[in-house]
Amino acid sequence: MPIPSQAAWVVQKILGARAYMASLLNGMDLLQQETFSIRKTYVAMRRTPEKVKWYPMICKSLAAPKCIFILWLTILKRMATRDRLIRFGIQCEQVCCLCKHENEFLNHLFFTCEFLAEVWRKLTTWCGVRQQALAWDAEVEYLESQGTSNTGKQLMYRLVIATAVYHLLRERNDRRFNSKESDVDRIVRQCQLMMVVRGSKNAKV
Ligand SMILES: [Zn+2]
Repeated sequence: MPIPSQAAWVVQKILGARAYMASLLNGMDLLQQETFSIRKTYVAMRRTPEKVKWYPMICKSLAAPKCIFILWLTILKRMATRDRLIRFGIQCEQVCCLCKHENEFLNHLFFTCEFLAEVWRKLTTWCGVRQQALAWDAEVEYLESQGTSNTGKQLMYRLVIATAVYHLLRERNDRRFNSKESDVDRIVRQCQLMMVVRGSKNAKV
């Protein structure tokens, strides 16, 4: 049927999708097919995206889902850090509220800020993975170089980075918005507690 011009917007969109659906299925008419596969249609619609190298940090991590979500946003550089807010034209104080020395760039927060670097150093020493604090871009490069293996060390590294990023951003938000401060040891203990609970799910860790 032709698309009626007086139909509701949503009805016009549904009817207009016929050509798009036909193009996905190589011109075949959906109604003429003997078997219709929702799976094949879904795969055709979403196409096959290129795999990002850091996907094991998100998809093969023992960390709590809220930590993984925050890590994912951080890898995509979508966190509302001060430099990003200023780029959007929002007026706000740019100095890092943790060390109060440098401006709050993502690369500064993770992990070259001396306060956060100290948390990172203590945590990584405690769980026996790499200790050196790198700037965020170098950290992501390191994550990408780690591959997809599930050795105890890899699992531990994925767990510690997701947990640390979550707790460090929470501390930064507490200082910015709630005027609450925790010291390095308290943040480390919070991370350790969460890592023990989550790490106990896998014997390798
Ligand atoms: Zn700082």
